[in-house]
This record gives sequence, C-alpha cells and structure tokens, in this order.
Amino acid sequence: MAKTANGSAKKAIPAYDIIDHTVDVCVVGAGGAGLRATLGAAQAGLKTACITKVFPTRSHTVAAQGGVAASLGNMGKDTWQWHMYDTVKGSDWLGDQDAIEYLCREAPKAVYELDHFGVPFSRTEEGKIYQRPFGGMTTEYGEGPPAQRTCAAADRTGHAMLHTLYGQSLKYDAEFYIEYFAIDLIMEDGACRGVVCIEMATGQIHRFRAHKTILATGGYGRAYFSATSAHTCTGDGNAMVLRAGLPLQDMEFIQFHPTGIYGAGCLITEGSRGEGGYLVNSEGERFMERYAPSAKDLASRDVVSRSMTMEIREGRGVGPKGDHIYLHLDHLDADLLAERLPGISESARIFAGVDVTKEPIPVIPTVHYNMGGIPTNYHGEVLTKANGDPDTVVPGLMAVGEAACVSVHGANRLGSNSLIDLVVFGRAAGMRCAETVTAGASHGPLPADSADLALSRLDHFRNASGGTPTAKLRADMQATMQSNCAVFRTTEILDEGHEKMHNIWKASDDIATTDRGLVWNTDLIETMEYDNLISQAVVTMDSAWNRKESRGAHAHEDYPDRDDENWMHHTLAFADFDKKEVKMDTRPVHTYTLSNEVSYIKPKARVY
Ligand SMILES: Cc1cc2nc3c(=O)[nH]c(=O)nc-3n(C[C@H](O)[C@H](O)[C@H](O)COP(=O)(O)OP(=O)(O)OC[C@H]3O[C@@H](n4cnc5c(N)ncnc54)[C@H](O)[C@@H]3O)c2cc1C
Repeated sequence: MAKTANGSAKKAIPAYDIIDHTVDVCVVGAGGAGLRATLGAAQAGLKTACITKVFPTRSHTVAAQGGVAASLGNMGKDTWQWHMYDTVKGSDWLGDQDAIEYLCREAPKAVYELDHFGVPFSRTEEGKIYQRPFGGMTTEYGEGPPAQRTCAAADRTGHAMLHTLYGQSLKYDAEFYIEYFAIDLIMEDGACRGVVCIEMATGQIHRFRAHKTILATGGYGRAYFSATSAHTCTGDGNAMVLRAGLPLQDMEFIQFHPTGIYGAGCLITEGSRGEGGYLVNSEGERFMERYAPSAKDLASRDVVSRSMTMEIREGRGVGPKGDHIYLHLDHLDADLLAERLPGISESARIFAGVDVTKEPIPVIPTVHYNMGGIPTNYHGEVLTKANGDPDTVVPGLMAVGEAACVSVHGANRLGSNSLIDLVVFGRAAGMRCAETVTAGASHGPLPADSADLALSRLDHFRNASGGTPTAKLRADMQATMQSNCAVFRTTEILDEGHEKMHNIWKASDDIATTDRGLVWNTDLIETMEYDNLISQAVVTMDSAWNRKESRGAHAHEDYPDRDDENWMHHTLAFADFDKKEVKMDTRPVHTYTLSNEVSYIKPKARVY
C-alpha cells in the first residue's frame, strides 16, 4: 500500500472509479514544449494523448513576448557557433555543451518549421523573418557588435507559436484531454508506466498507460510572491519527479527579469530595450553604463537585475518609497512603439497607468524563469544518478521545456533561448519516441497498486482537516522565497530561509481544506498545487544554501567569485518525504561537444 502524501502512517485508500486509457505516448502539458512533442509523436503515427490542466492556448507560453532565438542571419551575418558561444557564456559555464550545440545547430531548422506551420512572424523589407537584438546575443564570439538573432512576431511571439502548434497537433489526430489535472506518475521498478489524472469538471479519475510519458508542465515561478509567470506555473511535473524518488537539478538558479511592472509583476519584454529603451535611477542617470560599459541596458538579465537592486539599495530608486526604477521608451518613435511593442504598451497602460509615448514605466526585478528542473539528455530522456552513473536513463520518462533541465541554460538563460528550447527539444522528444516506440506495441499489465500514490494524495487533501488553510501556508512560502532566495543571497539570509522553509514544509502537515466534493473542486486543486510548490521551494532553498560560490543567477555576497575548481558541477536534489529532508548530490557538467565541428568552450572570467 502507498504512503500518504504527508509521509505519515499508511492507511486504506477509499475506492475511486477509474477510467483506463492505453496510448503509445502520453504528454503532460500543452505549452510550446508539450505541443511540439505531441505534434512530433502524433506525426510519427504514434497514438498520442496530451493532458493539460488549462486549455492549450492558455498555457504560459502564450505570454512570451520578445521572440525565439536562431542564427538565421537575416539582419546581418550570424552563425550557430556564435549562438553557441553566447549560450555557454550566458550559462556561466554550467550548461552541458553537447546539448547547447544541439540547440544552436537545430534552431534555424526549428524556426523555419514554425514558419512553414504558419507562425505569422514579423517581416523585413525583403520579406524575411524579422530578428531583433536581445541581451547577451553577440557576434564574433563576443568580440563583435550585438547580434540580431531573436525572431519575433511583433511582441506576441509565444501567442503566435502556441496557436499554430495547437492547430498542427489537431491535424495529426493527437487526443487532447483538456482541464485534466495530472496528480502523479505510475512508477514500477524504477520505470515510468504512465500517469493518473483527475478530470476537473467531474472529479472522474483517469489512468493513462503509456510507453513514454513526457512531462512538459512548465516552471514553478509561483513559489515566489512576485512572478511574471501565470498562476498555473506550479511545477507539477517537477514535484511528481521528486515524489518518484528522482532528483531535480540546478534548482538554485532562478532568473529574475529586470523589468516586471512594479506592483503587478507583469512582464515588459527585454525587446523593449532591444528597440532602444533604457533604465534610469532617481538621479536621472542611465546607470547601466556604469555596471556594463559595453552591453549597457542589454547586458544579461542577472547583471541588469543585480545592478537595479544595487541602485535601489544605495538609495537611488524611484517612486515615493524609492523601491523601483524607471524604464524609458518615451524617446522612441510612437509609430515604432505601435508596430513593434503594442502588447507592452497596452500592459503598461492597464497595469501601471502609463502612456509609454509620454512617461517612463515603473519596473522592478521579478521572478521570470527556472533554469533548474528535471535532468534530461538532449533527446529529452529523464536522467537520474544510479550506482554512481549520473547519466542513467529512467525508462519510460521524458521531460521537455521549462520543466526540464537539459541543461542548455546552465546558471542563467539568455532571453529568447527558452522558446527555441521548447521547439528544438519538443521536436527531439517526438523524434526519440518515433525511434524507440512501435505504434500499438502491447503493454504489460500495470501493478495492482498503480494508482495508489495518486489516489492516497488526492484523498488526503480532499479530507484534510488540519488547522492551517492552504492560502496561509502558500503566503508564508511565497514571502520566504521572495525575501530569502532572491537576487541577493548571503549566508545569513540563506541560513534563515533554510530554517523557515523547512518549518513551513513541516507545518504543511496541518493543512486544511473545506470543499470535500469532487466536481470543480478548486480548493483541492490549489492545495495539490501548493503541495507541489512547497517541495520545489524547499529543494530550491537547500540547493542555494548548499552552493558556496557565485555563478549566473546565483549571486552569493559571501562567496562573490565563480569557483570552477570546486563548484563547476550540477546540483542534484532528492527529497525524502517521510523524513522531510533533502539530500544533495552532484552531476558533472558535460565539458564536451556533440560533434568535432566545434570544440569545448573553456571557462573565461566574466567581463561585461
Ligand atoms: C511573461 C513571460 C514572457 C516570456 N517571454 C519569452 C520570450 O520572449 N522568449 C523566450 O524564449 N522565453 C520567454 N519566456 C519564457 C518561456 O515563455 C517559458 O519558459 C515557456 O513558454 C515555458 O513553456 P512550457 O511549454 O515549458 O510550459 P508552459 O507554457 O508553462 O505550459 C505548461 C503546460 O503544462 C500543463 N500542466 C502543468 N501542470 C499540469 C498538471 N498537473 N496536469 C495537467 N497539465 C499540467 C499546463 O496546462 C500547460 O499546458 C517568457 C515567460 C514569461 C512568463
């Protein structure tokens, strides 16, 4: 019999009716990554189910504005090798270079494929795909001028990609299970056999048996108080992986976007600085010229976020409380703003009450992206460390998109490198399924207790009668992450955060829900999401607490330098839910490339 979700004594699981489904491939998630993997598997003739808790085109990918990186060279010379160099450098040498080579080589193909599928990219005068500059994207291995590498459909690139990919997936007869919430994986002898879900409208339980289960469940920004990501970004797949006894990788690396709208958190794309926008402090100074003399406002996101935080800490923030910074676009041509940045002009009006043609936008660094996630190889196959082998493939389980850690972003992701990660590795996962799964191949019987873990968890939370409401626990977790695991980290801040977060994890045993029904029980779904978030918040905090150096997004004031000798390795974190403990381990960075065409890019000191 399974453990209960809180790790307490085992108890009988009440009977729930289960509807069984048997497919070749089951994808959990219908954002850019999930849809591209679904499309690829379905195109290969495999019976493919795609499960999603929100309607596909409402996945967070829809909010991606700036664009998708690929070295098409439409606006000046560019090569995939330069893109690779920038990505390795951006990762602060924590990215796996075989996977980065794969990403950058395949990127142009993946973008042309999107173009042919029907993504309405903005165009140059000659009718080519329009490309804009983005932070950290350069030419000539960092020696040349900024690259124009980010392919854009105005400032609504993710929206355009998601609608196109959904249409294409339907064309190939993928089966969609919409507003189904995946609860837990079905694991047998270390292999994944499928997933158990609840249909939210009815409370009906569904069990999917699959040769390959692909997690494409996105990031977990909502572990923090202020995030640019949707409220649905609760990293459910990551938490399922932890509960399956598998590790998460590099969770300490959280990207803060420099320009979230002050107060609301909504994103103002980096593309706005790419088009000529700049930041100023309360003295009207363009301070990025001081911190990053050459890249200035287009330095990578960690650099800009930290510089803004320094300005605010040193008393040069703007506004009545001096706690934010201004982003100026008002010097730009109004027609250019209307054509290239219509979405953010609207967001600034609605969420900050600002007319971008006349006034600056109040902005603040806001949680934006999770570099860490489920470790995979560049085929999308999930990895664990077993018998000392850090690259052991977990049979039957794959992961793509922000949920995965391939790792191409290492310690920090460059803007526009996520959308390309979704389509390149979503496509790779589809191809891997085509290579390894025979359509319609028979499945062994599932173990008798295959749904126990999921159902015991569901039942536990449905009937949870402790003294602390979910909302209170969630608020405590989000506040602690925001103050103790943000842009600035010190031993003292992390020690305090570590203790607080473990206390909140323990206090979660006292959780209370009020709705005992099964039909549209949002209380239950939010509670399962909270339970998913808290396990990730704990491993994030522990991973940050553990890493005694500064690298990429992990800036530790007591260890200000990067320490390649002792810390150039991935962090692995395993969670013990019975003892409420996190076990840390490591995995070597792949310091080799995929082909002989490029050689390993050796670590260099950081110069901005
Ligand atoms: C505001 C914003 C702007 C961005 N702009 C850019 C940009 O311009 N360029 C760029 O490269 N990157 C950008 N990013 C980052 C990028 O958009 C994301 O990293 C990426 O879209 C994540 O895609 P995904 O497919 O992994 O997940 P998502 O798009 O988040 O989709 C997750 C899917 O999983 C499903 N799901 C989750 N849990 C469950 C469950 N328990 N059961 C069933 N289904 C589940 C959801 O329903 C959803 O379909 C931006 C991010 C944000 C937040």
